[in-house]
Amino acid sequence: MRIDLHTHSTVSDGTDSPAELLATARAAGLDVVALTDHDTTAGWSVAEETRPPGLTVVPGMELSCRWFPADQPPISVHLLGYLFDPLHPAFVAERARLRDERLARGQRIVEALAADGYPVQWAEIVERSAGGVVGRPHIARALVAAGVVDSVDHAFATLLNHRSPYYARKADTDVREGIALVRAAGGVPVFAHGLATKRGRVVGDDAVVAMVEAGLLGLEVDHPDHAEDERAHLRALAADLHLIVTGSSDYHGTNKTTPIGACATDPEQFEAIVAAGTGCAPYRD
Ligand code: AMP
Ligand code: FE
Ligand code: FE
Ligand code: ZN
Repeated sequence: MRIDLHTHSTVSDGTDSPAELLATARAAGLDVVALTDHDTTAGWSVAEETRPPGLTVVPGMELSCRWFPADQPPISVHLLGYLFDPLHPAFVAERARLRDERLARGQRIVEALAADGYPVQWAEIVERSAGGVVGRPHIARALVAAGVVDSVDHAFATLLNHRSPYYARKADTDVREGIALVRAAGGVPVFAHGLATKRGRVVGDDAVVAMVEAGLLGLEVDHPDHAEDERAHLRALAADLHLIVTGSSDYHGTNKTTPIGACATDPEQFEAIVAAGTGCAPYRD
């Protein structure tokens, strides 16, 4: 069994349509794949309709959250949610708020770039996102198309990372509230790439303990952005706190170089997620 529990489609900032992503997953030999677009469940119905036979699809999402340390500015944290009720009203409202935040913040970044002479326009970003959830990768691709940088990675390394003068924050969900919403909707919350230091500051173990008190059920341990020692630390923490352990690629099509299935989840851990998720069921034969 080959199980990848974290992928993105064109519904957010990936480059494969949901149907293409599932075909890619099957061709790569995966048995189970989760679709976890940022802040939306808009890809779920297409995934259910276009699922290739033999492939199990886990409806999920990656929620943009923040942890508020006592003595520092907030830290961005990502929360994976699986098998929740997509119609839970408070959760529906929070996702809509996050998508609005993304629009306002994306526009701020693009306008700051344009004011300094970079050839990017907000209308082009909206067009590139094709009605999906806007993220910095859309701005990155526009910068590549305009010849400003030679790759999406280069755009992040120079103009779009959190240290860039063009970076703008968005008001993401308090992670404890995010966890509570996923649980209230019958879902399974898993802390995504918790020690991915290249993305910015990361939280300490105290935050993970607080997240568990709020209802967190798992940690994403095997992730392309985690070094060996970071994986070992998270694996030990998960054992101490009796958490589910996952592994996934965080596939984004050609917006990243990571292939689908690059990291994987053990079948027993996947079964623990299915057993805990009561908001909806995986799409399977
Ligand atoms: P945003 O959600 O708008 O804050 O943008 C964050 C997203 O950018 C992440 O979900 C990744 O998909 C993507 N990202 C971050 N760093 C990189 C990078 N170095 N290369 C490609 N994509 C990246
Ligand atoms: Fe992303
Ligand atoms: Fe993430
Ligand atoms: Zn992701």
